[in-house]
Amino acid sequence: MSPRSDYDVLIIGGGVLGTAVAERLARTETRVGLVEAENDVAEHASKGNAGVAVSYYGAPGTLETQLINTSAPLWEEVCARLDVPYRRIGGVMVALDAAEAERLEHTHQEVLACGVAVQALDARQVLAREPLVTPHAVAGLLLPDEGIVDPMRLTAAYARLAATNGCDFRFAERVVGIERDSDEVLAVITPTSRLTARFIVNAAGVGAAGISRIAGGEPLVSRPRKGQYAVVDRAFGQRLSSIVFCTHLPDTKGTNVVPTTHGSVLLGPTAQDIEDPDDRATDAETIESVVDRAARLVPEVRDAYIMKTFAANRPAGDEQHRLRFDTKVPNLLHCTDRSAGVSISPAAADYTLGLLREAGLDAPDRPSAQRVLPPVPRLRTSEHPERLIAENPSSGMVVCACEQVSSAEIEAALTGPVPATSVEGVRKRTGAGYGRCQGSLCLAGISFMTAMNTGTDPATVMHTTRGTVGS
Ligand SMILES: Cc1cc2nc3c(=O)[nH]c(=O)nc-3n(C[C@H](O)[C@H](O)[C@H](O)COP(=O)(O)OP(=O)(O)OC[C@H]3O[C@@H](n4cnc5c(N)ncnc54)[C@H](O)[C@@H]3O)c2cc1C
Repeated sequence: MSPRSDYDVLIIGGGVLGTAVAERLARTETRVGLVEAENDVAEHASKGNAGVAVSYYGAPGTLETQLINTSAPLWEEVCARLDVPYRRIGGVMVALDAAEAERLEHTHQEVLACGVAVQALDARQVLAREPLVTPHAVAGLLLPDEGIVDPMRLTAAYARLAATNGCDFRFAERVVGIERDSDEVLAVITPTSRLTARFIVNAAGVGAAGISRIAGGEPLVSRPRKGQYAVVDRAFGQRLSSIVFCTHLPDTKGTNVVPTTHGSVLLGPTAQDIEDPDDRATDAETIESVVDRAARLVPEVRDAYIMKTFAANRPAGDEQHRLRFDTKVPNLLHCTDRSAGVSISPAAADYTLGLLREAGLDAPDRPSAQRVLPPVPRLRTSEHPERLIAENPSSGMVVCACEQVSSAEIEAALTGPVPATSVEGVRKRTGAGYGRCQGSLCLAGISFMTAMNTGTDPATVMHTTRGTVGS
């Protein structure tokens, strides 16, 4: 350990990658800190993604593919350890005509080259596997190891376990400057602090290029690539058993139909390069085209109830994936991924630790570190709700009727390490407000509990990390 620094490792960014790295490092003899511009974790790409824990994403031989291959078999273990919903439901990629069938064959060969389980399906087999797929499908690929995870719960859980094991989280501190000592980063400057560290992990997502620039590092390019989604409710979701992918185009993975762990279904995403990383607006024309494209794969989505739309921005740029030291600043490690950050997170955390150890970080594993988060009893998924309620009557006090989220679950989200400090923070950790009424019935209850736990006046309690409920 370096006696001159506040931290051995300081991570910039509290998305899924920054928190996964924090969780892994905090189980070693490392003084680790994480600095995040927003008031909470999972506020940017890690909030607005589809939560597909992919088994295959792209070409063989890349580090991203290696990390996907390493992460894919770990999901049941990781999510059980972190108390995060996960289901290995498999995915069907569908070809709708001869040209798509030809491209599908190319994908088939690529999946095989990645060493991933895959099976070619004829038209009859596609329908047998997923009866909601259009009868116009001419061929398909089954990817049995595709899974779905709750990406917000995952990010919050990585953070919670990291904090339990001693990681210091600093919220609402945007890194605005970096001090150098000859070639190396010496300190990170926020509006309120000067934080010294031996190593810096740049997990700032779209902000990664800016961090590299102020550190005097490589001229990286990162720009927001917006993806819009429509969300269909559980009444439809409970009839869909697999992820339905379209056939990939060379430059885009296209619009898919993706069940979520909450039971809803996502239609999307789109891919549009934009300028403003805070632009998360959706528009009717794009959403209509998303529904049209989704309906080509699964016609019944046309009759399903769309509960909401949302958008998020991928950290796109000159490199799809970056997990390496900067070539100019030897103690600055870049850790970003455009489109598969959730899927690589378990292995990326281990890989980052390996790189830091190779660079001289003395970080032996700490046998006393906690590996498992105590599970929060959840009313909707409990096999014995009556026992839950007998043990704790608050488990029977339902605040969100659509998602059956109890007052006990909300209380758990608002307390303990890295608690929710806003209504949105509660939603991310519990799913309250994500159902058919989109919070019209439960907003008052969640706001009241958030106000009580954060010592805020109910009229000014934070809704998102940036605005109040009334704003
Ligand atoms: C529409 C869409 C669909 C996707 N679908 C999937 C999917 O199904 N499966 C999958 O695996 N991946 C998916 N992805 C990709 C995945 O979401 C990203 O790869 C992942 O979330 C990136 O995580 P991150 O931690 O690098 O970035 P982010 O979650 O963006 O976190 C970066 C953090 O850094 C903070 N930050 C930035 N600048 C500063 C600064 N100066 N100081 C302090 N903090 C700073 C930000 O506030 C932010 O919280 C999708 C992405 C999108 C947008």
